Amino acid sequence: MPDFGMMINGQSVFTAANFNVENPSTGDVVGRVPNASLGDLNRAVTAAKTAFETWSKRSDDELQAACAAVAAKIEEHTEELAQLVTLEQGKPLNGLGSRFELGGAQAWAGYTGGLSLPVKVLQDNEEGRVELHRNPIGVVGSITPWNFPVMIAVWHILPALRTGNTVLIKPSPYTPMSTLRLIELMNEVLPAGVVNVVTSDDVSENIGAAMAAHPDIGKMVFTGSCATGKKVMTSSAETMKRLTLEMGGNDAGIVLPDVDPEAIAEGLFWGSFINNGQTCAAMKRLYVHEDVYEAVCSALVNYARNIQVGDGQDENAVLGPIGNQMQFDKVVRLVADAKTKGRILLGGAPGEGLFFPPTIIADLSNGDALVDEEQFGPALPIIKYTDIDEVIVAANKSENGLGGSVWSNDVEKARTVARQLQCGSVWINKHGAIQPNAPFGGVKSSGLGVEFGEEGLAEYTNIQVVFS
Ligand code: NAD
Repeated sequence: MPDFGMMINGQSVFTAANFNVENPSTGDVVGRVPNASLGDLNRAVTAAKTAFETWSKRSDDELQAACAAVAAKIEEHTEELAQLVTLEQGKPLNGLGSRFELGGAQAWAGYTGGLSLPVKVLQDNEEGRVELHRNPIGVVGSITPWNFPVMIAVWHILPALRTGNTVLIKPSPYTPMSTLRLIELMNEVLPAGVVNVVTSDDVSENIGAAMAAHPDIGKMVFTGSCATGKKVMTSSAETMKRLTLEMGGNDAGIVLPDVDPEAIAEGLFWGSFINNGQTCAAMKRLYVHEDVYEAVCSALVNYARNIQVGDGQDENAVLGPIGNQMQFDKVVRLVADAKTKGRILLGGAPGEGLFFPPTIIADLSNGDALVDEEQFGPALPIIKYTDIDEVIVAANKSENGLGGSVWSNDVEKARTVARQLQCGSVWINKHGAIQPNAPFGGVKSSGLGVEFGEEGLAEYTNIQVVFS
């Protein structure tokens, strides 16, 4: 018997086939969850489609109240959900770990539930009245990754509910338990079928691909790698689904020559190593001007060497293991290659199990794999530059365009550089800070559309213009 059921039409559903979930800190099996069949997927889509008939007719006030009830449920259960995230994802409870993630989930749930998209009157005169309405789309299919399982589920689900859509979510096979519990909690305050969840090991069936192709799903919201996001786009084409795709990043940070290296070291470290670097908009390449290059390298290493890495359940740890073997192997490969090209300043050798210490490697350049590829792990390449125009070209030389940052004592100068970076978000003297009212999304292969704020909410609607 698995530890958690899937939630389909308000009922817990257990399957004969199950799969194990492992704790990345210990390698122990910490849970068993259902392995959905295509039949389970179809039943969940039908439940969401049926629930849409009444859910979509709820008034704006009723939808807001329902979202507030969901937000309250999350708030009541933050510690329980944080413990589950730590158990299956490995991140520490403290620091910028699972309690921080649940804080984000609460903040986004509360803010998004309170947003509105009122009818816009485009014209009202003797020639007639023209109104722009925003209608719900139908069933929203949500596919989430393993790095922030609960927060990203909230990013997908709350705007869908707020705008009158119903939902089927499929979490990553690495982190299904916290999502199963989250959806169970939501179902305590929502009508049957409004939010459903299926889990899959991605081996026996590709449930994600089947969702993207499903004729009764009207929109996909996907967060994950660029390669999978492109597959979702392809699978969605036949049924003309609406899409929001939040994909990988390879964010550049550019340090200008006027900085105080000691003052920016902490921000540089956490901008890069938040969640062990397993963050879409973490700083994944650091370009430093030659005038301050050695000083910035030293300040960063001095800050990083005191970071406590440990089992996620250790209250003193602020970084945990890498989330899974696939990701660990990628970091090992990229660091091994970088060692032959650059200078290891810190770390560089794998620890026990899935642990890998914070690793900083200097003297790399564009063309080296650790610079060009998204490492999604605790290994930061540092690149020396001389000319600001050349470094902007180097930073933009990427298929990705999620985030970027510029570090300087002169904010206006930094802003001028920032505006030339090809990315959806750009920060000055920080990296990766996001907030519920600021649209977030990538350009180029980092995605399509935005999440958050009114612009993000609008992506869960079809426009209907009424001319009278
Ligand atoms: P992934 O692409 O391997 O998996 C993401 C999800 O897609 C999982 O639930 C997986 O089961 C599912 N999936 C697998 N094959 C599929 C298919 N053919 N069709 C549909 N779905 C399928 O990504 P991951 O390893 O879980 O997450 C890491 C990646 O996610 C990184 O590249 C990271 O940058 C990115 N990410 C982006 C954001 C953002 O907001 N832009 C946020 C977090 C993570």
